[in-house]
Amino acid sequence: MIYIKKEDYNSIIDYGREGLPNEVCGLLAGKIEGRDRIIEKVYYLTNIDASPEHFSMDPREQLAAIRDMRKEGLIMIGNFHSHPETPSRPSEEDKRLAHDSNSRYLILSLADTEKPVLRAFIIRNHTEVSMEEINISS
Ligand SMILES: [Zn+2]
Repeated sequence: MIYIKKEDYNSIIDYGREGLPNEVCGLLAGKIEGRDRIIEKVYYLTNIDASPEHFSMDPREQLAAIRDMRKEGLIMIGNFHSHPETPSRPSEEDKRLAHDSNSRYLILSLADTEKPVLRAFIIRNHTEVSMEEINISS
């Protein structure tokens, strides 16, 4: 199970909506307790591709986020990005770019802007996709 605070969940959705029509992206940090991953901090990064179908995280912002995680004693849990027009599941490109089976890939679909869908995925060997439940706590 992945735990995320309601305010972080809402901020990710806001960020995704503000970024339309392009994809947005960011990093997720927190702690791991047994099988659970608890998101404690969300980093909102610039999609330097500025594209509705691709994202690349700004490398300098990425580095700054990783430094901040170290400083705060947080572990990198994974990342998130939005799908402005498509469902919340990894695209072929997402699978190809997924290099860490220990990481969690959160995808926010804004295909229905009134009903955003955020799901978390584990991607193994660039092919095997499984979903992990997200618990939104208030
Ligand atoms: Zn994607």
